Formats: sequence, structure tokens, C-alpha cells
Amino acid sequence: MLTPPPVQDGGVSTPQPVDVLVVGGGSAGCVLAARLSEDPAREVLLVESGPLHTDDWPAELLDAGVIPARHIETWQYTSALTAHRTGHVSRGRVVGGSGAVNGGYFVRATPTDLDGWGVPGFSYAELLPAFVRSETDADLDGPLHGRHGPMPVQRRARLHPLSATFTEACRAAGFAEEADKNSGGAPGIGRLPLNVRNGVRVNAAMAYLLPALGRPNLTVRAETTVVRVLVEDERATGVELAGGEMVRAGQVVLSAGALASAHLLLLSGIGPAAQLRSHGLAVHTDLPVGQGFSDHPDVAVPYTPVEHAPRPAGTPALEVALNTPTLELRPYTAPFAELVVGSGGGPRPSLGVALVRPDSRGELRLRSAEPLAPPELAHHYLETARDRTALREGVRLAYELLRLPDADDQELDRMVAANLGTSMHTVGTCALGDVVDEQFRVHGVAGLRVVDASVVPVVPSRGPHATVIALAEHAAARWADDIS
Ligand SMILES: Cc1cc2nc3c(=O)[nH]c(=O)nc-3n(C[C@H](O)[C@H](O)[C@H](O)COP(=O)(O)OP(=O)(O)OC[C@H]3O[C@@H](n4cnc5c(N)ncnc54)[C@H](O)[C@@H]3O)c2cc1C
Repeated sequence: MLTPPPVQDGGVSTPQPVDVLVVGGGSAGCVLAARLSEDPAREVLLVESGPLHTDDWPAELLDAGVIPARHIETWQYTSALTAHRTGHVSRGRVVGGSGAVNGGYFVRATPTDLDGWGVPGFSYAELLPAFVRSETDADLDGPLHGRHGPMPVQRRARLHPLSATFTEACRAAGFAEEADKNSGGAPGIGRLPLNVRNGVRVNAAMAYLLPALGRPNLTVRAETTVVRVLVEDERATGVELAGGEMVRAGQVVLSAGALASAHLLLLSGIGPAAQLRSHGLAVHTDLPVGQGFSDHPDVAVPYTPVEHAPRPAGTPALEVALNTPTLELRPYTAPFAELVVGSGGGPRPSLGVALVRPDSRGELRLRSAEPLAPPELAHHYLETARDRTALREGVRLAYELLRLPDADDQELDRMVAANLGTSMHTVGTCALGDVVDEQFRVHGVAGLRVVDASVVPVVPSRGPHATVIALAEHAAARWADDIS
């Protein structure tokens, strides 16, 4: 017999429902909470599992010179990257979300990426205003760039020697110069737009939420974990918190990130029916939640630089990248042992090689109906010959640019097998079209939306952060179009 998801005894309800309850104060959630609370008549509550920092940020979360993926304020998961390799996956667990622990590069999805989604209302032309609204670009002007938005965007004026040497090698190999990586996605080598100001990684909490905290209609409940969405008569009426408290709301928005938003839907009886039933959960709506997510597989190719170059404080982890139609090559400015403390990364610098348009599609499934048990992840990387060949050729290109000795296919495949990882750019667990409609509304459940990386149908050929922020801007702007 099927039982509904557990409701703890003694659960209490907040007496007054808020208008909008946003679950997850990450990159998208901070944008939404800030934008939606601009209307003083709208009561907005943001619930975040991690802490809220105002002027007490941990140093690593500010320092753009590290990628604090193992910081205490993160969620830690494992994934079957392939049948033979398990990988480590982090997400931010703090108001600011994964944008508070990421690599700090802020490149938009390209027109080819966005137009390729084929979702009405989400073409490059239709999303461009949201990208522009989200940023203040310190370097570039004109209709493609923002001058008044919350996220600061800047490129490095002086490059670290590892970035400069890589740039020279790309030029010498005949790659085109890409002067503006936020203006159309032509392939080439160029400086990365970074959401970094004076060596500080500026996350969406700092850019959007903190300036809005004084509003009487905006409440943030940090260190509060949601365990499921309450659904009554095909309508979301609020959420249940760990500990049993029920919080009622007119509208619930899941912005808990690509892993946790899907996990919460599954725990709430919204997902593949057979999977839910196998865990004893009642099925509210049969939807392909967690199915077919995508991400960038990557390989870090270590090398020994000709001479040691010191790294001044605040030098970002990445300053330039080479993009080709299938690859992104990322010359990190320091070894992973230094960049990602606690990761067990190597002591030598590396050139990251990522497949940016992979065939592989992953799967997120319930491990258990127990809400605090992490979901099961499988990325299914490199299952097609096309992906295996493209990544091998990417590593070959890295060898050429680094002037490493020639390697045959077997040696390159060994390098891939030994160093395969994930960029942690997961998207598409609750894809637009399949799980949510063009207003971000979950099919079949009124009053419930998902707005975060989960809804991006296919991983863009660039890192997703700028695109997630723009999508949240887009969602906020369209909010008034339809409330149901
Ligand atoms: C280590 C790392 C490096 C990266 N580097 C880059 C980069 O350089 N450039 C780039 O473009 N992209 C990068 N990314 C990806 C990018 O940061 C993310 O795609 C983006 O931040 C996702 O935003 P989001 O709003 O979907 O989710 P998140 O920002 O992850 O926000 C989700 C929030 O929800 C909260 N939450 C989760 N579950 C619950 C719950 N049950 N109850 C309450 N709150 C909950 C979480 O604590 C979190 O704060 C990186 C990601 C990681 C992890």
C-alpha cells in the first residue's frame, strides 16, 4: 500500500501564509527574492539551509583565488561519472549558494545554445535583456552589456604568467582572438568575464539580496532545511521543514539548485511514478524529474611550467579560456592542491579540458524516501564514441599547446581515464518543457515553480552561472504575467 510522504508529529503551521516562498538562497534564489520583493505589496520569504552572512563572510568564500568546493558550507555528493569512475560533486550551502564557492567566471550561454533549446520565450534575443539587466560590466559598453545591474563583471587587465603563456600558445597555434566572451560565442582565446571585484568573488547574495534585506516585506530564514512541498488538491500550499514545521504560502518556488530542487520534487511525490512507488511514496504527478540532466565532463592535464611564477593574492583561479565549438580549455593559475583545498588535487598546475556539448545525459534518483539521505547520481559520461573521441582530441590539443611530448591514442585515453572529473555545471533535472512550462510552473501542480539551474534544458557551452542569474531575472520579470 502506498503511504504519503511522512509528516512529523507535532508539526506546527505558520498562521499567516506568505505570498511567495522561495526555497534555496543560491544564485537564482537570491535574485528572485530580491526582485520579487521590490513590490512592497508582495510578502516574500526565502528559506535557506545554510547560514546567512552579512559582514562575517568566511575568507575562502570571498577569495577569488580559491575554489572552496570542500568548504564546510557546502553539500557534498558522489556520482557515478562512468561505470568505472566515481566523482565528487559539491554545491554551496550558504545564502549565495554555489555562486559563493565557484570558479568566478561569468560567461553567458551563446546564441547557439539558447536558440538550440527551442523553447518559446527563451531565445537569445528574448533572454538578452535579462543578461544585460543582471550586470554592470566594468570594461565594455553598448547594447549587449549592462551598466546598472547588480552583478559586477570585469576582465583581468594584467594576466598571470600561466594565463599569458597559454594565450600566446593559442595565438601561435592559429586560434582567433575572442575579445568579448559575452557577445555571441565565437570560438577563440580571450579574457574571461569574471564576477570578481578587487579579488573578491561577488555572489548573488552580496549583489542582490543583502542590499534588499531592509525591506519589511522580505524575510530570510537561514539554517532552515525544507524536506518537501505540501501539495493539496493538486496545488502547492507550502513546505514542510526538517523538524516538522509547516510553512504556508500562496506560491512556492524551488530554487534549491539542480540537485536539491529535483530531490525535493521527488520527495513530494512529483516525479517518475514507478520510482516514487518503489520508495513507497504516493504519486501526485508523473513527470521525468531527475532524468536526462547534463554537465561538462572535464580532464585536468597536469604540467610543469618553464619557470615558477608567484601568484599575487586575489589572482582568480581562471583568467582566460580557449573555446572551440566542442571544447573549453581552462589554464588554472595554480595547482588544484592550492585552488581546491581538501580535494586531494595535484601539486602541479593543470590545463582543464572540458567537453562543452556532450552527448551524455545523467540521472538523479531517490536513494531513499528519507529526506536527508542524498539522492543517487549517475552522469553517464563518455558513453558515446563521439564524446570519447572529442575528449581525447581535446586532451591532444592540450598536449600540443603545453608542448608536452606527443602521445598516442592509448596514452591520451589513459590520461582521460585517470583524470576524468565533472565541472559541476549540472543542469536539466527539471527541464523547461518536460517538467516546467514557460512560466517555470511545474506541470500539473498549481502554485509551484522551479527557477534555478534545474530548468535549463541542456548544459550551455559555457559555465552556467551567468545564465542561471539571467533566467531568475527573466522569471521575476515574467512573474506578473501569470499567477496561478
Ligand atoms: C565548485 C563549483 C565551481 C563552479 N564554477 C563555476 C564557474 O566558474 N562559472 C560558472 O558559470 N559556473 C560555475 N559553477 C556552477 C554555478 O555556480 C551553478 O550553476 C549556479 O550557482 C547554480 O545556481 P542555482 O541557483 O541553480 O543553485 P545554487 O546556487 O546551488 O543554490 C541552491 C541553494 O539552495 C539551498 N538548498 C538546497 N537544498 C535545500 C533545502 N532542502 N532547503 C533549503 N535550502 C536548500 C542550497 O544550500 C543553496 O544555497 C560552479 C559550481 C560549483 C559547485
